[in-house]
Amino acid sequence: MELGSCHSLHGFRNLMASLHEKRQEMAQYERAMLRPGPVFAVPGYCWACNRDTSFQVSYDNCFTGDDGTRMPNWREHLVCPICGLNNRMRAALMFMTEAVDTAEAVYLTEQVTPLYKATAARFPHLIGSEYLRDGTAPGRTNPANLRHEDVTALTLEDGSFACIGSFDVLEHVPDYMAGLHEFARCLRPGGRLLMTVPFALGSHPHVIRAELDADGGIRHIMPPEYHGDPLDTSGVLCFRHFGWALIEDLRLAGFRNARMMFFWSSELGHLGGMQSVLEAVRQ
Ligand SMILES: [Zn+2]
Repeated sequence: MELGSCHSLHGFRNLMASLHEKRQEMAQYERAMLRPGPVFAVPGYCWACNRDTSFQVSYDNCFTGDDGTRMPNWREHLVCPICGLNNRMRAALMFMTEAVDTAEAVYLTEQVTPLYKATAARFPHLIGSEYLRDGTAPGRTNPANLRHEDVTALTLEDGSFACIGSFDVLEHVPDYMAGLHEFARCLRPGGRLLMTVPFALGSHPHVIRAELDADGGIRHIMPPEYHGDPLDTSGVLCFRHFGWALIEDLRLAGFRNARMMFFWSSELGHLGGMQSVLEAVRQ
């Protein structure tokens, strides 16, 4: 399943070159799986359910290739109908399970998602939270039993987790460095941060889409990009796509051995070219 890992734009270019033939095979397989839709299935094995399944794919939020071919957003689809986990969520769960023993304490920066539910089933000492906008105080739960946390000012104790999973969250946080510092503070030495964010693989600097001005207002630098949010139907603004400078940011925040791990698997329903999860180890 793993294609390799790297920690810089230079390393990524070398990895891409070394996988030239493999990537052609991957693309060929993905094209062969396409059906007209609107919804179709790809057979495979769900690692989370431990059984054969039919991964569900639709053309919602699809990409259109140079030749006009519609390509599904494989990362957000390939949903196992049994556990409800899509491609990226199954990968996140797998990497967390590989990173730490399931008896360890884990913090997940989400709580209303199928990923939280599946993680809680494996990790009895899991804490999840959402960024609530209903007046709930940080560290407290609302009547729906959802815990409110701001990742830039967590109420969690120092060094209290063996693993933190943060998947597609930091791109929505204006002061993401404060978030990385908080993750480092709450992990014990040697603890693992597993993270995904929109990543501009061909860029070292971050691609800034929006930022806060001096008055706290939002200044758009690129057309606003909103991502689906289970708690807000209007979506949530994406401030940036990260570049490889994130590796240096992680080092400055107190992590070592930060690397992007790439994976692909036809058997396990991880299509979409070079899919990735970032891992960093608390100093
Ligand atoms: Zn499943």
